[in-house]
Amino acid sequence: MTTEFEELATSTVETLGHEPIGWDYDHENDPNAPPDIEAALEKLQPDHGHNDYSQLVAIPVSEEEIEASSKIDYVKWKQERAAKPHKDGGFEYAEHSYLGDSLTLAWNDGQSYVAKNKPFTLPNGLEVTYGQINGLAGDFYGTVNPISDGRDLQDQRQRFLRAWYWLAVDRTRNPAEAQKILTTLSTEVDMVQAALDKGQDPSTVYPKIPDVNVQLQLYTIARPDECPSYLGLAKINWDHFGADARTAYNACHSVALQVAASGNLELAYAMNAFGDHFLQDSFAAGHMRTPRRKLHDSVGAADLCAKYMHDEDNAIGLSVKSPIGRAWHTFGDKKLLDKEDIANKNEAWNAVRASADEIYTAWKTKTVPEYRKYAAWNYAPILSEVSSIVAPLFTPDGQRRVDIRKRCQAKYTYKYWYWSTAADCALSGLWKYPIKPTADCKI
Ligand SMILES: [Zn+2]
Repeated sequence: MTTEFEELATSTVETLGHEPIGWDYDHENDPNAPPDIEAALEKLQPDHGHNDYSQLVAIPVSEEEIEASSKIDYVKWKQERAAKPHKDGGFEYAEHSYLGDSLTLAWNDGQSYVAKNKPFTLPNGLEVTYGQINGLAGDFYGTVNPISDGRDLQDQRQRFLRAWYWLAVDRTRNPAEAQKILTTLSTEVDMVQAALDKGQDPSTVYPKIPDVNVQLQLYTIARPDECPSYLGLAKINWDHFGADARTAYNACHSVALQVAASGNLELAYAMNAFGDHFLQDSFAAGHMRTPRRKLHDSVGAADLCAKYMHDEDNAIGLSVKSPIGRAWHTFGDKKLLDKEDIANKNEAWNAVRASADEIYTAWKTKTVPEYRKYAAWNYAPILSEVSSIVAPLFTPDGQRRVDIRKRCQAKYTYKYWYWSTAADCALSGLWKYPIKPTADCKI
């Protein structure tokens, strides 16, 4: 004889047994998808998708602003402040330089040099600064084997060394290829710099920056199989997101520390600059909660969904906390240099400085710090404590916001298709620049 309770339990199990959950749901075989899905996906790309050479940072000078930016209501502070006329341009920056290039690196001659003025000569003859390596790593140089896919630290370190090989050792393509890439990117760098010089937010000039993606793809399309093209790398870029970015950085940093401890400070700094790319990406809002690794399929519809989530979080921003107890609001790629994002810029800069300092200490003391206890992470957002008014478009367990048009409505479903989601995001017009909170959001 079965009790009521047992009956209920059995029926529940049966229902659950037939219901696919989370990532197991068939998100790919979308009945609405057109036969020429790859061409159709091209048209759904968000229209502000510039190349992602986003780690450009100027060092703020106004004490008042630095102080305000560390407070959680900084955005409000800024809005109130902006309403009043401001004679001496307190929101402007006096010194503009990029994150890696603004570091002061201690050298083996007992001197310290600003990174921008002290380029490295890589084994293949390529001359690049710390900041330039930051920008080239991962986005332009990597392999078909993401570092974070490595089964253990040893494997991850090997993967990093292969990625490093294509930037710094290979002579079949470099130094010429990297030089062409840097020349092409210099238009963007110059335009961002010009905006900063005028006291404008770089995000306001980004829509005017010529789209050089086609050109960058052209330079990199004929690469050997192991080293994907620029756009090929973007399709497998989970090393740049969330926990995977930490894995990638830790692998690179551990190699660089070892090289430093064995006596080669210059090579160690250059390798570390490669790893710092993943550290810097860890400060972009769109890289914190997007389940990038999961949002990947063979045609790229899932990857496009990841891009929509990435762009939404980047634009609207997230509230974050670091292990050393600082709290701030962070935006994302293309906003890192905006006045609004000053707190994030400071923390990112502190992290990169801690990363480089650790290399110097390893060289000096011939000892390496314990893996996973790397100083840089003291400054980075704690992933589990990220929060926002915006309900994430996708959750780590594979659900999607029921209504993509209601950014703050935290209702979820696992029954969705990638193509339909991407098409809906494009059709909604809500991902057109600038991306804003929707009417259901209470700010
Ligand atoms: Zn990146």
